[in-house]
Amino acid sequence: AAPRCQQQVAAPHQDIAEVLLHPVQIATRVQEVGRQIAADYADRRPLIIGTLKGAVVFLSDLVRAIEPLPSGLELDFVKASSYGSSTTSSGDVALSLDMTGTADVAGRHVLLVEDIVDTGRTAAALTRHYEQAGAASVRMVSFLSKPARRTTPYEPDYLCFDVPDYFVVGYGLDFAEQYRSLPYVTVLPVDPAAQRAAPLPLQRSTSFNLT
Ligand code: 5GP
Ligand code: MG
Ligand code: MG
Repeated sequence: AAPRCQQQVAAPHQDIAEVLLHPVQIATRVQEVGRQIAADYADRRPLIIGTLKGAVVFLSDLVRAIEPLPSGLELDFVKASSYGSSTTSSGDVALSLDMTGTADVAGRHVLLVEDIVDTGRTAAALTRHYEQAGAASVRMVSFLSKPARRTTPYEPDYLCFDVPDYFVVGYGLDFAEQYRSLPYVTVLPVDPAAQRAAPLPLQRSTSFNLT
């Protein structure tokens, strides 16, 4: 007999302490946010710009949740890098691999897609960049936000989940290029042995503010 496609939450990776956001919870929220965006952009054709690489998994689910859009949509990408330690961002934000020429941004309704807004520095820099390029509007949809970490005032226009101040991985988010392909979001114990000895005071996802 052909193998059956089962609807199961994947067993956590062996490095993983506890799953914060489960695949079904993520899918449900992405559908909601996608429908909201579809309603708001019913009369315009957004230029959807994903930030590499972390937003790619979210973007691929989100654009399918936005359909059908009467005027369609376009996709592009930009890479934003901030300088600092591996688990926090600090200092300047550098934009590279900016695939949309300035001429193509002028007059467009840009919708930026981010994996997470942490200090807010990247989001603010990206917004400024596309406004200066002459976009008719610039909005952001972010998968996650850590409001407790904000140093630059910034709130995404659309948001799937607020998370507490832990370094999270999965659903596109990495630690040293690992864990992007996990179908759930979790806190990564940087040293798994240490984490087993002294577990983080994890909050259950049900206690999160599901914005
Ligand atoms: P911000 O400029 O808002 O401080 O930082 C944004 C970027 O920092 C995110 O796009 C992401 O690449 C990285 N970042 C911030 N917090 C986390 C986190 O908890 N996990 C991961 N994997 N990356 C994070
Ligand atoms: Mg990012
Ligand atoms: Mg990263």
